[in-house]
Amino acid sequence: MPGYSHTVTERFLRYVRIDTQSSHTSTTYPSTEKQKDLGRLLVKELQEMGIADAHLDEFGYVYATVPSNTTKMVPVICFCAHMDTSPDVTGKDVKPQIVPSYQGGDIALPGDPSQVIRVADNPALKDQIGHDIITTDGTTLLGADNKAGLAEIMDAVHIMVTHPDIKHGTLKILFTPDEEVGHGVDHVDIKKLGADFAYTMDGESAGNLEDETFAADKATLTIRGVSAHPGFAKGKIENAIKIASRIIERLPRDTCSPETTEDRQGFLHPTDLQATLESATLSFIVRDFSEEGLREKEALLHAIAKGAMRDFPHSTCEIRIEEQYRNMKVVLDRHPQITENALEAIRRAGLTPKRTSIRGGTDGSRLSFMGLPCPNIFAGEHAFHSRLEWVSVQDMEKAVETIIHLAAIWEEQGQ
Ligand SMILES: [Zn+2]
Repeated sequence: MPGYSHTVTERFLRYVRIDTQSSHTSTTYPSTEKQKDLGRLLVKELQEMGIADAHLDEFGYVYATVPSNTTKMVPVICFCAHMDTSPDVTGKDVKPQIVPSYQGGDIALPGDPSQVIRVADNPALKDQIGHDIITTDGTTLLGADNKAGLAEIMDAVHIMVTHPDIKHGTLKILFTPDEEVGHGVDHVDIKKLGADFAYTMDGESAGNLEDETFAADKATLTIRGVSAHPGFAKGKIENAIKIASRIIERLPRDTCSPETTEDRQGFLHPTDLQATLESATLSFIVRDFSEEGLREKEALLHAIAKGAMRDFPHSTCEIRIEEQYRNMKVVLDRHPQITENALEAIRRAGLTPKRTSIRGGTDGSRLSFMGLPCPNIFAGEHAFHSRLEWVSVQDMEKAVETIIHLAAIWEEQGQ
């Protein structure tokens, strides 16, 4: 789509200046009221583009519809991005700077000499020669995660409403709060949204498409020991603190942990231990790309606990497994066109598509299992959740073009 004048960069620079940091400790929804400040601005901008139904709901979600401009029957596609930024690094008073026509080398950030975006840590910079790189001054995060996605969707909508020659079906826009604190889809109204499937614009390098996430369980071990007065305890006490540490001690050393695995390997990871003499609660997260992998790791945990309990015949250990989320590929494989069309759109934008998997969960994995299949398309975000975050203007423009091609491809395939 060369020739379209993009508004993506000016939008991005406007959105990152609004602080939308979410909070892990809040009990409200959205977790921080300030996220709605950006929501209101996005609604206003959508309405100014003529998107009449754009609105912000009580939970802080933005919903909007770009009406179909074709006579064909085309599935209803949703484009989704999140408005909040990570609680890990401040997002207040973000001062973005642009490094025009990047010529290689490390990028020192002017507001804090200790903050340097190094090529050694960011090999993706090597693909950015000649591009305009946006960073912060080094004192805050940038919030390209996921304001790049917001700006890209907004720019794509703007281009489509001003270019009626681009034919598309009904497009739904969904902007969510609280993604970074794991609650991005808690209050989303799937019925009201009325989409057949969705794409999140929240990925890394230009050309990437993520159609796979971890499958995730939580395992909780409840240990009951035997207590007695320590002065008269010979042959009586079975200390729950020692039982718990015996279990931890028996975990594999060189495999099966976050610190020893990468790529497609899963793990069994202790995350919390509360213990007294009488009782202990030991929590684990279990991660793998397949259900069998989860089952194997859970069987291993059972075997380790059973082995450890042999020395404590009067104590008990119960293991409770709870599902957290599942690999979205299970859902996406049933609807291959969703991923295929995204790969084709990336190709039409002049990029080489690359399918990747996420060692974690996304809102898309939860949406996929709520009936809205949802792979993740690149937004150009790099080094997210840090002061060294960056994005390039040209990658954002490619993401905009990918959205437009994708809408057009679905229309071409309509009846
Ligand atoms: Zn994100």
